[in-house]
Amino acid sequence: MTTSVSAPFEIRRSEGSSLLAQDDLPPEQHFIDGEFRPGGSGRFIDVVDPCTGSAFARVAEGTAADVDVAVTAARAAQPAWRALTPKDRAEVLLKLADRIEENTDLLVRLESANAGKPLAVSRDDISSSVDTFRFMAGAARSITSQAAGDYTADHLSVIVREPLGVIGVVTPWNYPLLMAAWKVAPILAAGNTLVLKPSEQTPLTTLKFAELVADLLPAGVLNIVTGYGPEVGGRLSVHPDIDMIALTGSVASGRAVAKGAAESLKRVHLELGGKAPVIVFPDADLAAAAASLRAAGYWNSGQECGAACRVLVHSSVAEEFVGHLVREVSTLVVGEPGAGDDVEIGPLVSKAHFDRVTGYLERAASAGIRAALGGAPLHGPGFFVPPTVLVDVPGDAEVTREEIFGPVITVETFEEEDEAIRRANDVPYGLAASMFTENSRRALDLPGKLDFGTVWVNSHLVLATEAPWGGFKGSGYGRDLSLYALDDYSRTKHVMHNHGRSGGTPSGL
Ligand code: NAD
Repeated sequence: MTTSVSAPFEIRRSEGSSLLAQDDLPPEQHFIDGEFRPGGSGRFIDVVDPCTGSAFARVAEGTAADVDVAVTAARAAQPAWRALTPKDRAEVLLKLADRIEENTDLLVRLESANAGKPLAVSRDDISSSVDTFRFMAGAARSITSQAAGDYTADHLSVIVREPLGVIGVVTPWNYPLLMAAWKVAPILAAGNTLVLKPSEQTPLTTLKFAELVADLLPAGVLNIVTGYGPEVGGRLSVHPDIDMIALTGSVASGRAVAKGAAESLKRVHLELGGKAPVIVFPDADLAAAAASLRAAGYWNSGQECGAACRVLVHSSVAEEFVGHLVREVSTLVVGEPGAGDDVEIGPLVSKAHFDRVTGYLERAASAGIRAALGGAPLHGPGFFVPPTVLVDVPGDAEVTREEIFGPVITVETFEEEDEAIRRANDVPYGLAASMFTENSRRALDLPGKLDFGTVWVNSHLVLATEAPWGGFKGSGYGRDLSLYALDDYSRTKHVMHNHGRSGGTPSGL
């Protein structure tokens, strides 16, 4: 493949205008039992602007003791919350959705300032959060289950879905409020209460959400404890009075909470990393596939667990496809979120993550892998990496096997269909995959052979609140969104009534 364009990406700067006023920030405290409370440690964690690397806010550094207070509040609030009818809980959820929607502008600015997200990405996050609460409000009122019936003579079996109790939740930095909404909405809809720890890097919108909805929820139903993973998340995973720990994050964190949960045998719900392959067959609409990947590979600067990051393209069309892809990707606009509505690629979230992503690029370059676009960080303050397309990449290269979590697509070629499927599956992850083909038999047959929780055909990274999201293998287990999330946050009980008129039990028992 020879395609190469010189697209000198430049960082569009916001020229000193700030997205935030001081009173936009949430309190530097935990939200426990319906109010903001100082943490026990007296210590704080700085919150950094990824466009500059400077701290602009801080939050309390939580402790295990703070978690314990929050769990006590959540436990105390659970019986009354659980006792509400689905209709009553749904009405609260709809009010939460309205409150988020009314504060869209504030939450968008806060999310963009904290995570460096382009405004369009934050707007999508906030509107998807609203939709998640609205969907779960409706879903709570329309749970379906096996029909009650006499499956044993004279005994009526009734299947009941009950809340689990108190759920511990740990969320990541890439979609701070949206990942919180994906947990909070079904957890509350199912009748549970919760204690949530946002990422220490992006805690602001989650705290602001608690501040905005404090008057809508009974005290103790929603609790937020800020802090570091091993301390606060670790305590949530081992706490004996928590019934489930739900984490969205890296494989290492997932493993840590699953180990912590083992002692108390609490349930575990894990949405972990991904390495989504995109198989482009020779019969694909190559221009459409490339246009689709312009969004799916680089949305949120590629800091996306389902990002289209690893293309396997048939060798006969590789050059043409890469030409389309490079042309598409070279039009992306890089900049600070405050620089305008047309910015599409912001900085990476932190210095540590910037170092990680640029480390992958440096090692790829040293291994002789060519960047048809991008490939090296952009100069200046902030953690900016340009949209990058790496081509002629060997199938066993580090960049094709590990989650980079940045604006990087790798392109490798294949010869045979079976080979493409085998290589696509040959990663530890199993979150999402896609294939581009105009052959309908292939389109119907191959998704069953791809070992991923979501498979798109002629598309990538399009989500629906009604459809489940979650992975196989190293990407974890449990489902977000859809009725399946409500199921995950509920337990199944069988109640059996003996209604035989002669009394006693059926023969044989
Ligand atoms: P991370 O694992 O570093 O952090 C996630 C959360 O886990 C944070 O709140 C962190 O404080 C906490 N944590 C860290 N160590 C912990 C421990 N020992 N015990 C308990 N909690 C701990 O992940 P991240 O860097 O914030 O997010 C990026 C990762 O999340 C990527 O791997 C990405 O693929 C994944 N992710 C997955 C999905 C999905 O739906 N599958 C969605 C978004 C992000």
